[in-house]
Amino acid sequence: MGLQTLQGICAKASRFYSNSELDEGGIDEIYQVLEVAGLLPEVLPLVRKSDVAAEKLRVAGNRAFVESKNDINALQLYTKAICIALPDAKEIAMAYANRSAVTFALREYRNSINDIERALAGQYPKHLRCKLVERRGRCYLELKKYHRAFSDFSAVKNLVEECGDDEEIKRSKIARLEELIEKCCGMKDATEAPLTSCPSTTHPPSPYIECASNAVEIAYSDQMGRHVVSSVDILPGDVLAVEKPFASILLPPNYSLYCEHCKRRCHSALPCVQCTEIVFCDENCRQKSWSMYHSVECNAIPSLIAIGCDKMEFLALRTLLVASRKGHSFKELINRYPMLAECCPNPRMRGFVGGKYLSSDYSSTHYLENHRNIRDSKDIFRRSVTAVCLLHILKIATDFFENCNLSSESEALGYQAAGKLMLTYLMSVPCNAHEIAEMRLTIASKGKVASESVEIGGAIYPFHSLINHSCDPNVVRHAFNGDTVVLTAIQLIRKGEQIFDNYGYHHAVHDLATRQEHLWSQYYFSCSCPACEEDWPLYRDLPEGPPQLTNLDVAAAIDEKSRQFTEMLATITKNQSSEEDFVLLKEYLLLLHCNVKRPWKEYNKCQEAIKQHLSLRANCFVYYG
Ligand SMILES: [Zn+2]
Ligand SMILES: [Zn+2]
Ligand SMILES: [Zn+2]
Repeated sequence: MGLQTLQGICAKASRFYSNSELDEGGIDEIYQVLEVAGLLPEVLPLVRKSDVAAEKLRVAGNRAFVESKNDINALQLYTKAICIALPDAKEIAMAYANRSAVTFALREYRNSINDIERALAGQYPKHLRCKLVERRGRCYLELKKYHRAFSDFSAVKNLVEECGDDEEIKRSKIARLEELIEKCCGMKDATEAPLTSCPSTTHPPSPYIECASNAVEIAYSDQMGRHVVSSVDILPGDVLAVEKPFASILLPPNYSLYCEHCKRRCHSALPCVQCTEIVFCDENCRQKSWSMYHSVECNAIPSLIAIGCDKMEFLALRTLLVASRKGHSFKELINRYPMLAECCPNPRMRGFVGGKYLSSDYSSTHYLENHRNIRDSKDIFRRSVTAVCLLHILKIATDFFENCNLSSESEALGYQAAGKLMLTYLMSVPCNAHEIAEMRLTIASKGKVASESVEIGGAIYPFHSLINHSCDPNVVRHAFNGDTVVLTAIQLIRKGEQIFDNYGYHHAVHDLATRQEHLWSQYYFSCSCPACEEDWPLYRDLPEGPPQLTNLDVAAAIDEKSRQFTEMLATITKNQSSEEDFVLLKEYLLLLHCNVKRPWKEYNKCQEAIKQHLSLRANCFVYYG
């Protein structure tokens, strides 16, 4: 029998579905039913590290780099080779060295140096070391670290002088090195440019929302549920919140290019010590991830991938692991959460701890909306089957339940509680998870620029999850430094007005019927934003030409700004817009917001330009094709 997928299991299990409402023991029952019917997923062993497999991947990497000139493909192949290679042997050192050639070609000199040092510290063959040290010297030269470059070139020169090479070859090598040494002499080391930093909030910190400024408040109404409102007038471009996720995951196709822990793109990644899939940007992330969730998940990943787990399932599992510290505080978790419901009669304060709303504390995640009461029983049954499959893998493949320290009497209750929590997450994650995206900018040799936003993972941001949707949002989210999300205003938001994010259905992109249909099926609400109420047209049909002004005195000012804006557009798409350009964009948008009747195309254009400017400063990868 071939491997079963989650989808297949759910389809086959549906014959056991009975219309009766699932009771509290639902998870238990479904587990037994799937077990008897032979529908539990197969649990796969970890793929063992192997230098034979690693060498094959590395050779494929060489082909991609040298013959196909596909740097990114080569990078991924070398990283996969590093993941599957045995630690501390020659093969892994070879793969590090080969990868350093790719990052050197990509002009990523820090990455190149990282790998060169790993190769040199490992079993890299003696007779090839000169080449690597010279490459490191060239990296330092490019970084304007002349002292280090000088010492690398000098060391290589000494070795060349002592080696038994043919005199002719020796002379040409020495001449080349002397030329390089010459470039370092009398030069002053440069201070390195800081890494792109994450913005901070425009206003002072909120006294009770850990990640937000005091320009926003958490509010509640029966109709809107919990939501976020402004407590001051907020200007376009103001940063309202900077939030780290409670839990975040990478999508499996991105495993070899991004750090599993911080979600930063990394081209000189370290492998997991145990599995052959996961990489980290540095030792710090590797250790944090191991101690927070990965030592459990590591053993489950092959089985999870085999049954076709997706963002939602991975996030549900990750939430359980982070919330219970890999099971170590599982008992505390299951004892605590029913209590929280009872001691929180005020719906606005759900998920608060000691009067504060903390993204890093589990309470805020636990009380995210899951719409359990309006889901039909088929939906809940299907999610319960998924929860059981995850639970089964957790039970068989990992030491999660051993960490829980459950007594033999409470073991069954423990499984049930874990299954129920997983079911809760499988309901709350789809309505609350945000994507982690990266902007990819390809600059072709003729200066032609192409940009696309690519989803690299998903995360639970407890504060951002409180923000309601509008098809004409007044804020935008961008991920910085991997999985940190930054919330920026893209309209004037008057004091007391609600903050509205966009859940992926924008008035300029999707028509009214499509928006309403998707918002209902995924989030269970009907949108009544101005774009929906007035049925604004899609982007291509938005009104152009002279705007309808609500204040005629500003006509000349708008004309002037419009002219400057049009001139500036090309620089934005090329990633060359400056902070002064950004100031102009914000002023123009404010002017339009206060004086022009919407919908009007140029308003959207200006907003898009602001979003583009911001996204090129957030997670962004520039590739010179
Ligand atoms: Zn990292
Ligand atoms: Zn691992
Ligand atoms: Zn709407």
